[in-house]
Amino acid sequence: MDYKIITGVVHVHTLDSDGTKTHEEVAAIAGEVGLDFILFADHMTLQGLDEGKEGFYGDVLALIGYEHNDHDDCNHYLIYENDKVLPASMTAAEYVAAASQAGALGIMAHPDEMRGRDARFRSYPWTDWNVEGFNGMEIWNQMSEWMEGLKFYNQILMVLSPRKWLQSPTSRVRRKWDDINTRRKVVGIASVDAHGFLYRAGPLRLTIFPYKVQFKTLRSHLMLTEPLSRDLETAKKQIYDAIRDCRVFMSNYRWGEAKNFRFEIGNASTSAAIGGEITLEEDTKAIVTIPLVGRIRLIGNGKLMAEKKGKSFEHIITQPGVYRVEVYRGKKGWIFSNHIRVVE
Ligand SMILES: [Zn+2]
Ligand SMILES: [Zn+2]
Repeated sequence: MDYKIITGVVHVHTLDSDGTKTHEEVAAIAGEVGLDFILFADHMTLQGLDEGKEGFYGDVLALIGYEHNDHDDCNHYLIYENDKVLPASMTAAEYVAAASQAGALGIMAHPDEMRGRDARFRSYPWTDWNVEGFNGMEIWNQMSEWMEGLKFYNQILMVLSPRKWLQSPTSRVRRKWDDINTRRKVVGIASVDAHGFLYRAGPLRLTIFPYKVQFKTLRSHLMLTEPLSRDLETAKKQIYDAIRDCRVFMSNYRWGEAKNFRFEIGNASTSAAIGGEITLEEDTKAIVTIPLVGRIRLIGNGKLMAEKKGKSFEHIITQPGVYRVEVYRGKKGWIFSNHIRVVE
């Protein structure tokens, strides 16, 4: 299958909550940096959706969901494909279940968030791991990673060159994600969590991560079976179906354009792409190609199976399990795929 790859950003705030620009302004910026889609999520509001702001802005498809949180402002949850905000009185278990029952797409936001020592910023982690019915989790959240690295001595540097500090998704969240996937399919997404807010460091007041800078970092690439439709309802379904089905890989654009990355597991009779499933045969192997030289790591059931530096990679698969690929450039995480399932 020859997939059409589209690239976008997930988890973007606007003036409807604590962002600093309108939907229209943000969509225009997304167009300038060549994105195909943008998934908005403001806190506890679908005002943009109610005002009819979903749709195409030039070539950029903008879709609108929202970010739910609990009483303690923890368990932030991105809810898409639902036309109303769930009651604020619900617990995390209740809103995850309610979203699932409504047929919505639900993604845990910054689930493993920890922050540095700067007391001005608290963290907003996921705390209730007994919830059932979520579709995905943010594996890589730009704001969380940036905040976690923030120290008193480096804050000026971090504000001045924010993109340089991003490394990779934490091993905590990758472990959890791999573990859940051995039981069921849960998509991993990269989020920008863009607000474009002001940061005060001594006498300086700077906008950290202006939207445009952020849109040139963590991107999610979706693999579509058909080109993205210009019809809103059809296009919407294409995007949400690809996410649900784990036909997703993530990249940090700072280290190179990743859309020509490919990961497949195949044998003489058939092959499976990211999000897919294949039956184990004797000649089953993983095949990876990347557009620039990098360190390619094949992870199976959460463990490193093989590693190689180059632009391509092949490895014979001998065990059933869930397999994914990570690519690094130097120490920096560049590309992270979702899983392919190998079954007996
Ligand atoms: Zn949040
Ligand atoms: Zn947010």
